[in-house]
Amino acid sequence: MRKIIVHKYGGTSVENIKKMKNIAKRVINLYNEGNSIVLVISAMGKTTDHLVEMARAITENPDRRELDMLISTGEQVSVSLMSIIFKSLGYDSISLTGYQAGIVTSSDYNKGKIEDIDISKIEKYLQEKKIVIVAGFQGRTEEGDITTLGRGGSDTTAVALAAKLQSKCEIYTDVDGIYAVDPRKLGKARLLSEISYDEMMELSNLGAKVMEMRSVEMGKTFQVPIHIGNSVTGKIGTIIKDVDQLMEKKVITGLATESNVSMVTITDILYCSGDIYKIFNLLAEGEINIDMISQTAPIDGKINVSFSTTSLDSNRLKSLLKDYSAHKLYVEENMTKISVVGIGMADQSGVASKLFSIFEDIGIYFKQVTTSEISISFIVNNEDSHILIEEISKAFDLSDD
Ligand code: ASP
Ligand code: MG
Repeated sequence: MRKIIVHKYGGTSVENIKKMKNIAKRVINLYNEGNSIVLVISAMGKTTDHLVEMARAITENPDRRELDMLISTGEQVSVSLMSIIFKSLGYDSISLTGYQAGIVTSSDYNKGKIEDIDISKIEKYLQEKKIVIVAGFQGRTEEGDITTLGRGGSDTTAVALAAKLQSKCEIYTDVDGIYAVDPRKLGKARLLSEISYDEMMELSNLGAKVMEMRSVEMGKTFQVPIHIGNSVTGKIGTIIKDVDQLMEKKVITGLATESNVSMVTITDILYCSGDIYKIFNLLAEGEINIDMISQTAPIDGKINVSFSTTSLDSNRLKSLLKDYSAHKLYVEENMTKISVVGIGMADQSGVASKLFSIFEDIGIYFKQVTTSEISISFIVNNEDSHILIEEISKAFDLSDD
């Protein structure tokens, strides 16, 4: 039996024909070694962005079904070109849209969830020894309308196919794998040879951009190890896998940052007046995305509340809360949220105190802190973030120094 491998390449890796030809060469080598290949690819370069822009130039809120019809075409271009390349090199291949590949999703346009995949067609083509090239990021509803899976969704297509085909899943990108810290933030960031699904999801959630979160969730659900490698060298750098399969459970595996965070503090809110509910309701109606929240204990029947949010327009915030002018409103912009994530944190104490000692040593204070079972997040001034990232990385072995 030939072994099936699902290979996924993202937009940057297929941005031009030259890069596509290099991928074809690698795939052909694997094919010649006796593997069956299912290739999942994204749209070329920034194609999806351009398609979205075209629709937005017509209206701010393009019809969601039609938007999916439009943006799914990006992948149709890349898969067909890829197949033309294979055929020109003398290899039999076939390109498939998500629809043709049997990918059935919910009818949530622009963020469809894969509900099932009828893999019979793919299996038939693999048996015919074809290289199968599937358009990432798309599927169809029960009724036969085209859907997309949400931006970055090709990763999910790859993991879902690997789950269904019970095959290996390799995702190639323009970096070597998953780093403990974004290498743009820390030059000597350590490349992680392994990371658990939970840590990867937490890091993605807290600002790391390498993997689309839903694909990792799916990997966890179906126990598909996800191999991440460099699309140019073909070398696998990181395996995302089950926590039980990790060689070591580090206290802190990685650090994620999110910049342009604002901290809002509202003081003198009447305790027990329902004002808190009213304020947050107004914020929700104004679609202000609230992240960390903290509240002080009531003193003289009054409380203060702080919350963090990204890319806030403070004038808009003030106008949203204009009916609550009795309160004082303070907005601090240009903050960074730094989060550390590690599965070992769940059963080890003293992680917070070790972190606090780093703050103490360099004389930096944080504005807000929250924790989850496997993460701790802080809000600091943008200008303090660099030194903190360096020091935390040194203390927790996240860099190669
Ligand atoms: N082409 C889609 C996007 O840009 C899907 C993907 O790249 O994974 O979001
Ligand atoms: Mg991507």
